[in-house]
Amino acid sequence: MSSSRTYKDYYAVLGVSKNAAQKEIKDAYRKLARKYHPDANKSDSTTEEKFKEISEAYEVLKDAKKRKEYDEMGRYFGGPGPGGGRSYAGGAEQGFSFNGFGDLFDLFGGGAGGGRPGARPQQTRTKGSDITYNVSLTFDEALKGKTVKLSVDKEETCSSCGGSGAAAGSGRTTCAACGGRGMVADNQGIFSISWACPNCGGQGSIIERPCTVCRGNGRIRVQKSETIKIPAGVADGSKLRFKGKGQAGLNGGPYGDLYIVAKVAKHPYFIRNGSDIQLDLPITFTEAALGAGIEVPTVDGSVSLKIPAGTQEGRTFRLRGRGAPKLKGSGRGDMLAKVHITVPKELSGAEKELLVRFADARKEDPRKGFKE
Ligand SMILES: [Zn+2]
Ligand SMILES: [Zn+2]
Repeated sequence: MSSSRTYKDYYAVLGVSKNAAQKEIKDAYRKLARKYHPDANKSDSTTEEKFKEISEAYEVLKDAKKRKEYDEMGRYFGGPGPGGGRSYAGGAEQGFSFNGFGDLFDLFGGGAGGGRPGARPQQTRTKGSDITYNVSLTFDEALKGKTVKLSVDKEETCSSCGGSGAAAGSGRTTCAACGGRGMVADNQGIFSISWACPNCGGQGSIIERPCTVCRGNGRIRVQKSETIKIPAGVADGSKLRFKGKGQAGLNGGPYGDLYIVAKVAKHPYFIRNGSDIQLDLPITFTEAALGAGIEVPTVDGSVSLKIPAGTQEGRTFRLRGRGAPKLKGSGRGDMLAKVHITVPKELSGAEKELLVRFADARKEDPRKGFKE
């Protein structure tokens, strides 16, 4: 423990805010990693250090659990925020914290008499976690929308104590072990190591009489039946947010959200592309050459389509309003029928004769443009 270490503000390292979404963190990491990657730079100890620091920060912040623990630990160091780290005890010179995440546990683990790194000040009202469910839909259900009933395994705020964890008429008293500071300290020579008070779990106060319904937890595990309306027009991978239907918050904090991810089954011949629907439409070469009125399937049943004479392979016909309902805005997308000209694989003698006569009459050379 002789090395002088400083608390590292991983958020500052990645240049993101403390409330940054996971995607933001990932993007920031990628950008920086590209910039400082050893392969992209001349071997230089500064960029190498920087790259290590970025990787270390990302290792912790990309993992929701590690990030949470890091955030909680951060409070004891003055909290991650602009301006970076500050030493937390024993004066500026001897202040230390950790190089990596492993050290963070060492610091508060041993000898602390139960002071856990995960101990959280429970009086803070914290928003509950989000819940994500996948819902499978057929191609048709995705177009029409569907109401589904889900049985969600979740934690709800205890209605008996309102999430405080304290029995009615009972409150919290200042923790005698730490005198309400939430921290206890141990002097080891020039160091002063402090950790979350094991008696109150770092809260500074303890519940006088725990709520009998939730046993002081403030939340109760329930199987909650939720009726979810999936709107018409969802596509495979569409993510829907149902505000406040997630996990209960801590200490009566707000509920998290429920996310529903649509898993839409493939259709044998229709392909969704946003609100448009694509169809590969086979036509015979005589239909292409002579023109034809044909029946084309749509999600509303078949409609007639006029194929003009001389239609070429790959031509796309747009059938307006025959697509999927638009999730944003109103109306529907289009159906795009892309023509594929089929060529007979076998011909009867009579058919062959006809085509030979046809070829003789045409004397066609589609490759004449290649000649010099
Ligand atoms: Zn309760
Ligand atoms: Zn205490």
